[in-house]
Amino acid sequence: MTNVKENNFLVNVAEVIRAELGEVQEIDLRIPEKLFLDDVLVLTKPITGKIYLERKEDSIFGTISIKTKSELLCERCLKKFEKVIKVELDQEYALFKRDIPKAEEKDMPVLHGKEIDVLEPVRQEILLSLSLKKLCSPDCEGLCAECGGGIDDGMCKCK
Ligand SMILES: [Zn+2]
Ligand SMILES: [Zn+2]
Repeated sequence: MTNVKENNFLVNVAEVIRAELGEVQEIDLRIPEKLFLDDVLVLTKPITGKIYLERKEDSIFGTISIKTKSELLCERCLKKFEKVIKVELDQEYALFKRDIPKAEEKDMPVLHGKEIDVLEPVRQEILLSLSLKKLCSPDCEGLCAECGGGIDDGMCKCK
């Protein structure tokens, strides 16, 4: 993703770095849905939520809690439907370069500068939450094997 002017998925953590150990800062998140547009993920609402950042000794521990809406295709009846997505995820960022080996061990990104980028972890978590079966409703009857018409919406007249 290039040339995005409003980098509101970049969270400034300068104050968190200066904070006392154990202090938690709460920051509002708002990420335009446009940033996520691709073949895999279609969001119909901006991502909104919060990130809680706790100052640890060698790291910043972030808890991200967001919601948005996605447009999906039902696997049974092939109709588009919207689904509310709520995800929570933790992401820890190592603070100091000397901790890089330790951070890599834990698969922890190292903080460069004073901003953390939450776009990719959020995106991964949303994709994960959507990897379950996509159904417009749990009891969607799908399409009729005889005529191909939707059974729930009465397009099938076979019965
Ligand atoms: Zn369906
Ligand atoms: Zn039918």
